[in-house]
Amino acid sequence: MITDSPVRGRFAPSPTGRMHFGNLFTALISWLSAKKAGGRWVLRIEDLDPQRSRYEYARQIEEDLHTLGLDWDEGGVDNIGSCGPYCQSQRHDIYLHSLETLRQSGLLYPCRCSRADLHASSAPHASDGRFVYGGKCRPHDLPRVMTREELQLPVALRLAVPQTTIEFTDMVFGHQSIDLASEWGDFIVRRADKAWAYQFAVVVDDALMGITEVVRGADLLSSSAPQIWLHRLLGYEPPQFAHLPLICNSDGVRLSKRDASLGMEALLARYTPAEIIGNLAHIAGIISEPQPITPSELLPIFSSLSLAIPPTDTIITSSNQ
Ligand code: GLU
Repeated sequence: MITDSPVRGRFAPSPTGRMHFGNLFTALISWLSAKKAGGRWVLRIEDLDPQRSRYEYARQIEEDLHTLGLDWDEGGVDNIGSCGPYCQSQRHDIYLHSLETLRQSGLLYPCRCSRADLHASSAPHASDGRFVYGGKCRPHDLPRVMTREELQLPVALRLAVPQTTIEFTDMVFGHQSIDLASEWGDFIVRRADKAWAYQFAVVVDDALMGITEVVRGADLLSSSAPQIWLHRLLGYEPPQFAHLPLICNSDGVRLSKRDASLGMEALLARYTPAEIIGNLAHIAGIISEPQPITPSELLPIFSSLSLAIPPTDTIITSSNQ
């Protein structure tokens, strides 16, 4: 579709397994949301973790999206489009460039803490058990610009965050106010093994791929705070965020790639692609009955609604529906 719409949405799966009902839900809503605005939908492959990411899974994700009628305008393993490469594993030089901007800010510092140090000096985060860094390696004389040689050392790189509250309006969960220092603390940008951290890569990619709206699972709602801050620090306009309730199995546990009964393989063995889309659309409250429907047929219905997703934490589904 040729469009002048400035809206650019994205789906950013990690190719660590086959998709399941939960990822499909995110893919469908993010596709609908971008298309509703006449925008473009970008497929980015988040294969930063070399141990868990596999090329075959990325290809399988693409095949599954095609099967369901969720075609992307840009991106994917074949790097279609002008903002690529679209696989994070191929974007090393781009990340190095943004790292240089952070170095010059004087807020980047080397962290030599061992795992034991981290546990001893970090405070567990109240709501989700995540650890907030206690600041052992934070220099006392910030801002302090690291040398380029220091950047080569095999140590983790952290970013010193200020005492500030990040406010934003999520399109599903409404107004958010997140205290950066107490909820996140100084976070890692590059690990000691030189692997890029998710928070950093995702911001660089969303910014340079011109993404204007991020639709993803509610498990990443609080990550929007460090991401918005990083966007600003790098001189970018943060995108709009819409976080979707997580899909849980009948035991109320969030779906994972281990829930084979709601994995794509099991779903396709029992349902047609249009039935799967119908089920997802029904769960999202877009259609009142789970009847078979394609994403394109769903689009005019979705477009006539204001965002139909209820801002609950989770949506419980049952594997035998
Ligand atoms: N790669 C992440 C995942 O598969 C999504 C990250 C994001 O949407 O920001 O869960």
